[in-house]
Amino acid sequence: MIPPLMPTYNRSDLAFERGEGAWLVTGDGRRFLDFGAGIATSSLGHGHPHLVAAIAAQAAKVMHVSNLYRIPEAERLAERLIGATFADSVFFCNSGAEANEGMVKLMRKAAAAEGRPDRFRVICFEGAFHGRTLAMLSATGNAKYLQGFGPPVDGFDHVPFNNLNALRAAIGPETAGILVEPVQGEGGIRPASLQFLRDLRATCDEFGLLLGLDEIQSGMGRTGKLFAHEWAGMTPDVMSAAKGIAGGFPMGAILATERVARHMTAGTHGSTFGGNPLACAAGNAVLEVMLAPGFLAEVEHTGRRLWRDLERLVADYPEVFSEVRGAGLILGLKCVPSQAEVVAACLAEGLLAITAGENVLRLVPPLIVREAECTAAMEMLARAARRCLPSNARLAAK
Ligand SMILES: *Cc1c(COP(=O)(O)O)cnc(C)c1O
Repeated sequence: MIPPLMPTYNRSDLAFERGEGAWLVTGDGRRFLDFGAGIATSSLGHGHPHLVAAIAAQAAKVMHVSNLYRIPEAERLAERLIGATFADSVFFCNSGAEANEGMVKLMRKAAAAEGRPDRFRVICFEGAFHGRTLAMLSATGNAKYLQGFGPPVDGFDHVPFNNLNALRAAIGPETAGILVEPVQGEGGIRPASLQFLRDLRATCDEFGLLLGLDEIQSGMGRTGKLFAHEWAGMTPDVMSAAKGIAGGFPMGAILATERVARHMTAGTHGSTFGGNPLACAAGNAVLEVMLAPGFLAEVEHTGRRLWRDLERLVADYPEVFSEVRGAGLILGLKCVPSQAEVVAACLAEGLLAITAGENVLRLVPPLIVREAECTAAMEMLARAARRCLPSNARLAAK
């Protein structure tokens, strides 16, 4: 019989009742160290006092008014994001896929408004993930996700990741721009090389194309900079953010330069919920924490320490792990046994971790994770690895 919740997810049989920092607690009192952070989203962990207070205070004042009126909380958040990034203007929405859809609309609109309505195609990369709406399924280009949903939306071409020659060869007369994740998340924690990001910028300038970055997973502090592209010392024309932007409250954003944003005049795009006072109160609270002196440096420091410990884990358990990947606190361990088996072993040890493409175990803890919690996670990972050793797997099978 069909369950009340549509069965689109293979859920673990765990229900969390509350959370404290990097920990989640089930109804029956079992504690789990959360290195999944609700898929890289609970950026400030659970129950962060500043975020909780901001949401409670705003909920008591006014939650929603629509974009037919001024929203001071949204104006403030947009000004702050502009102050901290390349962007000149921001559009708020409610999810990552919605932000990416809007970003592609901005790219197409700018091309058309600049006298090239024939330019509507966007070049994307193999291994990408851009969301589950019809157009973003096409941008993602994963045949498995497209299966059964009719003809893919036209306008997306795919080339191998980190390969400039392939990218340049795919540019045609209808190309409007390029869409890329600085670190592919779902695809297996695969960072773009910093040189590749700079080359993409130069290529867009050379051909008059727009560069769109999907920083939904890599952004909002995850790599130790507010946005991952800052490591490459380049800037995009337009960028999407979501996941960690409001610490678990649903929110997305499109950040754009004036060149791109100025064509989005009244009536060209919209959202009923987008940027409502409640979401923006959450977003402001998150940004206040992240932009406080030392916060991002601490994320970088914690990430480097974890990386060093994970390298040691790979050396200690070569039959289970073969490689460390990622940057900052978006880290991956390539697994030898199936990643599902490793995730189950982690769960048995009290650690929440998630999967990613290429048989990678994804570790994306809340950005507030403490050193002692990283040490605990490493111990849990080592015990999980021992559960997965081929000899133990054989014993377990008997
Ligand atoms: C999660 C994710 C999306 C989709 O976000 P939703 O909020 O699930 O729609 C898009 N791009 C990237 C890189 C993501 O990690």
